[in-house]
Amino acid sequence: MHLKTFRYRLRPTKAQEATLTEQLRLCRNLYNAALQERRDAYRKAKKTVTGYDQMKSLTEIKAALPEYAGVYSQVLQDVIKRLDKAFKAFFRRVKAGQTPGYPRFKGAGWYDSICYPQSGFSVSEKAAFFSKIGNIRIRLHRPLEGKVKTATITRDCGEWYVNYVCEVESAPLPATGNQVGVDVGTTYFCITSDGEFVENPRHFQRSMKALRVGQRSLSRKKRSSNRHRKAKAAVAKLHRKVARQRLDFHHKTAAKLIRENDLVAHENLNVSGMGKGNLARSIHDVGWGQFFSLLSFKAASAGRTVIAVDPRYTSQACSQCGHTCRENRVSQSRFVCQSCGHTANADLNAALNILARALPSVGNVDQQVMRSPRSPGIYSGE
Ligand SMILES: [Zn+2]
Repeated sequence: MHLKTFRYRLRPTKAQEATLTEQLRLCRNLYNAALQERRDAYRKAKKTVTGYDQMKSLTEIKAALPEYAGVYSQVLQDVIKRLDKAFKAFFRRVKAGQTPGYPRFKGAGWYDSICYPQSGFSVSEKAAFFSKIGNIRIRLHRPLEGKVKTATITRDCGEWYVNYVCEVESAPLPATGNQVGVDVGTTYFCITSDGEFVENPRHFQRSMKALRVGQRSLSRKKRSSNRHRKAKAAVAKLHRKVARQRLDFHHKTAAKLIRENDLVAHENLNVSGMGKGNLARSIHDVGWGQFFSLLSFKAASAGRTVIAVDPRYTSQACSQCGHTCRENRVSQSRFVCQSCGHTANADLNAALNILARALPSVGNVDQQVMRSPRSPGIYSGE
């Protein structure tokens, strides 16, 4: 069993849209008030208010502020849970010795979704029902699968969507006998140890360019002017377009890798200290996180294995003899081993190293392969 998200466009009436907007406003206010309460309690009395405490006081809030009776009770509970999650993440990072930002107040436009975590909703071919909102027009352009667990209504550039998270049966794919290492790059999206150079699609590159142009034009407009408002909306739309195209491309690329290989190895980008001084790389990291989590999701449902390996020196080590030095990398794209003379495309050489590092941890040990200095984390799969 695994979880899968299905996203559909909602077509609310004007009245329903007003209700949704009002609910977002109420939820945002609740979030900010709950955050304020935690801050004050801690500052004034050094007391910790927990999510559990705040959950209990929801009844009082509803009694005191009748407008909250218009929001489904579990939706309100979910608001408290979100805040609790933000605090837990904050404390976890503090404990780990990092310096995270304190959970923030949500400004207008920064609270765009409400979640029905368990009940109070249902869906048919033509209508999505939500308690306290009613039946909203929907079209299921692809059928829902499995058992629906949660429903989240989202506002995105003035349009409304619903995400249903469903529990679906895993469908293991037949073994292929292939294993692959993937090196993510900047010139190419990724390079596989099989020698495949995967490029970012043209239409995506075009949208990225349009986005950059739009952002520049936005920065020249006077703030809070009419032109600024229009340019801002245009940039937001371009952002959404780029995000969608990227997601679509990531889905397709990940699906292909999972379909064709029993094992996919990639660099673990969470290793600290990575990408320092390499701005071009760090900019792309954002997208790679999404790509790697899609890989893991697809691997889990297909019974494949995805392994994240320690990325250090993958670009400087020789994939043939293991000799590791900076001079091996004679240019951005060329690799020439100073010890054995092995010559290869630098990214392809790195992809081979990545695969080699993953192999020992799946018991498929080839004694010739280098051992990774740290044991890689296995995300999923059998
Ligand atoms: Zn060598």
